[in-house]
Amino acid sequence: MNTEIRQSIGQGFTIVTPTRRLGRALQQQYISDQLSAQKQVWETPDILPWAGWMLRTWDDFAAQQKEVPILLNTQQQQWVWQQIVADSSFAEGLLQPAAAASKAYDAWELTRQWQLEIFPEDIWLNKDAFAFQSWVKTYQQRCEKNNWLDTASLEGYLLQDVSQWATQSATKLCLVGFDELTPIQQSLLQALEQVGCEIKHCQGINHQQAVSDQNIDVSCTTVADTRHEIKAIAHWARDLLTADANTSIGIVIPELDTLHSDIENIFDDVLTPSNLFTNDGQAHNNRPYNLSLGQPLADYPVIDAAFAILGLESKTIPLEDLGALLRSPFLGGAETEMIARAQLDAELREQGEPEIFLTILQQRLEKDEFWSEHCAQLIKSLIKWREVFQSLHNQQSCTEWIESFIALLNAFGWPGERQCQGDEFQTIEAWRKMLDQFASLDLVAGNLNYRSALSQLQRLAREHTYQVETGEVPVQVMGLLEAAGMQFDQLWVMGLHEEIWPLPARANPFLPIKLQRQEKLPHASAERELEYARRITDRLAASAKTVIFSTPLSEAGRELRPSPLLKQYARKKIENHSEINYAASIFVSSNIEELNDEQAPTVEDAETQTQTPKAEDAHVSGGTSLFKDQAACPFRAFAKHRLGAKSLAEPDIGLSPMDRGQLMHECLQCFWGKISTHQELIDLTEGALALDINQCAAKVIKRFQSQHPFTATARFMLIEQNRLQIMMHEWLSLERQRQPFEVIEREQEHIFKIEGLRIQTRLDRVDKLPDGSLVIIDYKTGKVKIASWMDERPDEPQLPLYAIIEEGHISAVVFGQIRRGEMKFVGLVEDPGGDKDKENKSGIPEVKTLSKSRISKDFESWQGLFDFWDQNLTKLAKNFRDGDARVDPYKSNTCDYCDLGSFCRINELAQGSENLTDNENE
Ligand code: SF4
Repeated sequence: MNTEIRQSIGQGFTIVTPTRRLGRALQQQYISDQLSAQKQVWETPDILPWAGWMLRTWDDFAAQQKEVPILLNTQQQQWVWQQIVADSSFAEGLLQPAAAASKAYDAWELTRQWQLEIFPEDIWLNKDAFAFQSWVKTYQQRCEKNNWLDTASLEGYLLQDVSQWATQSATKLCLVGFDELTPIQQSLLQALEQVGCEIKHCQGINHQQAVSDQNIDVSCTTVADTRHEIKAIAHWARDLLTADANTSIGIVIPELDTLHSDIENIFDDVLTPSNLFTNDGQAHNNRPYNLSLGQPLADYPVIDAAFAILGLESKTIPLEDLGALLRSPFLGGAETEMIARAQLDAELREQGEPEIFLTILQQRLEKDEFWSEHCAQLIKSLIKWREVFQSLHNQQSCTEWIESFIALLNAFGWPGERQCQGDEFQTIEAWRKMLDQFASLDLVAGNLNYRSALSQLQRLAREHTYQVETGEVPVQVMGLLEAAGMQFDQLWVMGLHEEIWPLPARANPFLPIKLQRQEKLPHASAERELEYARRITDRLAASAKTVIFSTPLSEAGRELRPSPLLKQYARKKIENHSEINYAASIFVSSNIEELNDEQAPTVEDAETQTQTPKAEDAHVSGGTSLFKDQAACPFRAFAKHRLGAKSLAEPDIGLSPMDRGQLMHECLQCFWGKISTHQELIDLTEGALALDINQCAAKVIKRFQSQHPFTATARFMLIEQNRLQIMMHEWLSLERQRQPFEVIEREQEHIFKIEGLRIQTRLDRVDKLPDGSLVIIDYKTGKVKIASWMDERPDEPQLPLYAIIEEGHISAVVFGQIRRGEMKFVGLVEDPGGDKDKENKSGIPEVKTLSKSRISKDFESWQGLFDFWDQNLTKLAKNFRDGDARVDPYKSNTCDYCDLGSFCRINELAQGSENLTDNENE
């Protein structure tokens, strides 16, 4: 510790610092000194930040007085300002009244610290300054009426009668680490001196001395970008700690708030890689570094869960929020009902509704045998929560709302059934402290309704930044201002590029700019910022034996240059550190055991092992998509159809392409239920046709609406119904061009057996022609090609499959491409009577016979084509049955639309090996 400070403590001085951090560091240094001096007991030094010293002085002063004003805390002051701004006539023009109130409060603080009149008559006021003047008037009137005093005015109040309190609270003061004192602070200190108090200023190391001292090494370096800069610092700190675990390291980051999570991630990777494997809530305890700036309390998962519970007062809840709640570990029953709740989340997503009615959900869970058994505690929580909520008063004080909020959280068993440890425990303690601050709003806010009380609590949680405490650690990461007065063995100051250092002028919008420049207020002018930046740079350059300043050379594609303030320091090149590749590290550090995971148990063996009652054939889920998946990639088919793997659905606004396709299918099914032959279609008048189409479209829309009340709004569904009607007219005009047919199957279910597999499927449509032969039709809303059938691993195996399972003579297999402006049949027709020279007699427009099609050279006969399909599909079924689970995507783009990449680990497999074979190009 600096000798002057140590001596001052010994002489009974109160040490006052600009920041809490410096106060804590001095306390710690003092303790270390005492321990080094072999002392067992010592008097606690009186060290505290300026704000703390002011509050203590006020408490002492107030205790001696008969009557004093009520001192408002920060939350109370902000509330009053928010109300004044929101109630004023100027609020209408404000986009964010709360943010404006916060800026106005900053302006108010500045005027108190700089002892400014609001405003001198010769100062021109713009609209903002005029509004501020009016708010100040209301604020002062309100404070006077209620006998309130705010912290911004505290120095001014105490200055009025220094002799009253000076002797008891401030006889000897030593100010350490202040880069500058505000006018009100200067006035107060002068007044104290005048009444006999002893005041001294200790600046720590004198810069001029420090620079001339040969032991101080100050250098400056450049790094590619901010991410590399953070990495370089983390490695630098690691090397220093490896050499000497007790060295004190300071890291100063001007944009600490925006880089917070990057710093945490990279520092954890480099300094505490073992934390990657801990999940016990103790991660912060192992860190050798302390990040000064925390995250907003509202961003911590346990607090987020609390707000999600309190937010259940609306009738509906967005699916995303409900899902987060169902997966949250901070609810009662979260552990015991974990799997069932996750299943419920997945099921609700499948329904595709973006909002859920809570009461309907609760009733549905209660009625369903499975959910009532497996989500019993969740149901109880929902019931209890509603009971508590319904018993609440409309208007209550903040203190009363705290009780209500706790009761609502208890209804859900927050913060969960597992023991809260380490970080989580501290976070919940911080939440409790925040509730105390919320309670203090009673003084200024009176009674509030539920929504207002909750939004105030949320505001507090967003503004309350909090950092899990780490204890004493060698590495301190802090913002520019927090480094005031601190001393380290090693210091790195990053991010000092010309755009940020000196800081650009940022005058407060509510104070006249002329006044701000005239009085030299902080951030008022470029000159002041330059002078301030110079002072801080000099101070930082003298804060350690080794000091490194660094600058990123680019950011988001923008070139950056070092701050001109760093020109005086010697350039230094720093080592590049490679990325940490955990996959590679784990790989090389382990004993690799070879395991062939390309071969799964056969379907029969798996059934025997799971003691599934042995059936003659094994039922597999997924219908014909099994063949499509097996053809695309065996692992995909294995994962989806045997393991049941699928990603969670993500409902979006509006109808998905799948919903649209489904509606079209249903509409066609309905129509061909009314009209079953080509002749009937021809005979329909335009009016009758329109009536039938409209009835079918209305029916399917109604069905959809009943299942999707949020997605299917009346206006939206009217548009959708209109779209369906137009599509139907367009399609049926094509059907009218065909030769006679009769629709004999519509969306008919079939169960067929192939290679010991029992597969359930649904054929879109089968038509019968006058000669008794059948036409198989598969509707598609996308573009289709028959080439998708003609491969050993076909892209679209459904129609070939239907063709080989359907009994009877099939004379045509066609896609019905239902796309606006591109309606057509695409497929193949048998050569009539096997005669290759005859024209297509099936009467399906534009569909060629086999011998006239492009594939005629590959197939001698219609039966030859069917045999080819039979052979390929049987092989796919056999491979699937035999447990073929190779990660073998057929084409280079097969994985693009597959969501199993993290499961099959295709990227890891591809790493270091050659690119996937592009079978398509072979
Ligand atoms: S991501 Fe590719 S390799 Fe993995 S399962 Fe899907 S298709 Fe197969």
